Amino acid sequence: MFTTASISFKTALRPIAVSCLALSALSACVTTQQADTAAVAPEASFSLSNSVKYQRQSKEYPLLSAYVYKQATAALPASFDNQQTPSVIVLDVDETVLDNSLYQEERESKGMGYSSESWNAWIKREEATLVPGVDKFLATVIERGGKIALITNRDKTLDAHTWNNLLAMGLPLTPSNTCIMGRLPADKEAVDHKYIVNDKDRRRNAVKQGSPACSLTNEAASDSWNKPHNIIMQIGDNIEDFQGVTQEDAYLPAILPEVGTSLFILPNPMYGSW
Ligand SMILES: [Mg+2]
Repeated sequence: MFTTASISFKTALRPIAVSCLALSALSACVTTQQADTAAVAPEASFSLSNSVKYQRQSKEYPLLSAYVYKQATAALPASFDNQQTPSVIVLDVDETVLDNSLYQEERESKGMGYSSESWNAWIKREEATLVPGVDKFLATVIERGGKIALITNRDKTLDAHTWNNLLAMGLPLTPSNTCIMGRLPADKEAVDHKYIVNDKDRRRNAVKQGSPACSLTNEAASDSWNKPHNIIMQIGDNIEDFQGVTQEDAYLPAILPEVGTSLFILPNPMYGSW
């Protein structure tokens, strides 16, 4: 892909070639070309932030993520009983299941930050990789008869791309065992700071009440999800991936006792609600 800078760089060299031929003096040509090239700014290069380097290059990031999922696996029930009220594991998607650090790296290498347009274009590429450890965890949940609700603040209209990306990563997800719910405008509008505290609470309540708007469905999936569920575990990279809390008001002494049993938090140094 040519940027404006690279095109102008090539164009600027053309008059130099003509003057070189006229002079027929190689040493003069080289000297002139070097001087002129120096006057044209090359494409800017941008160094990556420490947060992107940490996620993409460090040994600590994959070790920590895999450790969190190892602990979450140890906290799972030996088998899920779906006879009465089925149990469900609720996870966020970005930096919880899918690793989007390539998007961050690409933006930073161009000297650009997040934009909703570029983010949505990235989702449509379906090229995110898996957060270390999540594949084994999700496979274990499903092996044991468990169900998974993926509550993401990706736009609801992009749910099909999220499905495609997850399936391309080889995860054993089906509409009956997994419900993906992107964010609707109603999820934000419902926040009343009393019963609906953050913009994922409405969707969590829908899972509990048996009325989730799962993005992919069929008869078997409807039978599976249209019944009340118990949320027994919540996993995310943001404190607001937990029900009923906000970044501003989260009371950590109340959350900490549940961390490691029903709540699990993953490292995401790149972005958040902080
Ligand atoms: Mg996230």
